[in-house]
Amino acid sequence: MTAIIIDGKASAAKLREKIAVEAARLKSAHDLQPGLATVLVGNDPASEVYVRNKGKTAEALGFKSVHVALAADTAQTVLLGKVRELCADKSVHGILVQLPLPKHIDEAAVLDALDPAKDVDALTPTNAGLLLSGRAHLVSCTPAGVMLLLKEYVGDITGKDVLVIGRSLLFGKPAAQLLLAANATVTMAHSRSRDLPAIARRADILVAAIGKPEMVKADWIKPGATVIDVGINRVDAGGGKTKLVGDVDYDAAKDVAGAITPVPGGVGAMTIVCLMQNTLIAACTQNGLPLPKL
Ligand code: NAP
Repeated sequence: MTAIIIDGKASAAKLREKIAVEAARLKSAHDLQPGLATVLVGNDPASEVYVRNKGKTAEALGFKSVHVALAADTAQTVLLGKVRELCADKSVHGILVQLPLPKHIDEAAVLDALDPAKDVDALTPTNAGLLLSGRAHLVSCTPAGVMLLLKEYVGDITGKDVLVIGRSLLFGKPAAQLLLAANATVTMAHSRSRDLPAIARRADILVAAIGKPEMVKADWIKPGATVIDVGINRVDAGGGKTKLVGDVDYDAAKDVAGAITPVPGGVGAMTIVCLMQNTLIAACTQNGLPLPKL
């Protein structure tokens, strides 16, 4: 069997198109320009690339884009002051503080300073709680992207056995909530789970968000299962070069799975567009407008 390759780039391009149309409509009908602020502390090269891409995508969609770059040794009080300033700025509807933050900064304190209405990464306790109660407008971007891919490639997931490997606040926990809300039977696994290959073999849909290159092997996958690889790992490619791989042994897994996301070009492509979707939603809710139909 050769799996259907889930084309995240194509799905992301379709959503991006709809967001651009909606942003143009907001501008002409309400003179409203969605605004996204990114905050980066320090100069981690990967984070710089992520933040630059977010800014560029926002601008390409006609959003206002603000970038705040702070030195790695910035005091927590200065960062908190900057976040509060952005929270008070009416032209900024979404604020993304790029994680991880330097060790001397308490991430929880920074999240607590964020206005939940502008928390487009949906990491504040308020947005996590709203998701739990089924009332969230802003949903964590990568899990939201995964749900869109499942909707497009699998359709109704009612009753399906779904395994999520990884229980982070950023991905695993919100993904499990969304899958539950879609009526799947959800199993969460993590570093203390016993006999992960056996748990994995039961899954109709396997979602890996571990951060361990190619850890999920082909013989962990039930034949015909859908495999969603969230992992992004940079590994040595020989000759002084590096390459990106996921958490799944893609080359072997694609001969067993029914459908699979590649890395890159799968889940990652959706994340940034879902961030733009959240910014659009935030702009609407902060201006008393109905949620955009995308
Ligand atoms: P994280 O916070 O480090 O969480 C990793 C999770 O994997 C933890 O829950 C951990 O379990 C679990 N884990 C670690 N080793 C394991 C093992 N041997 N067996 C089973 N579970 C294990 O990472 P994250 O932020 O969720 O990200 C995970 C991966 O997704 C990373 O590669 C990251 O780069 C990628 N990512 C991609 C996107 C995207 O846009 N595509 C977005 C976000 C993240 P414990 O809780 O027990 O420690």
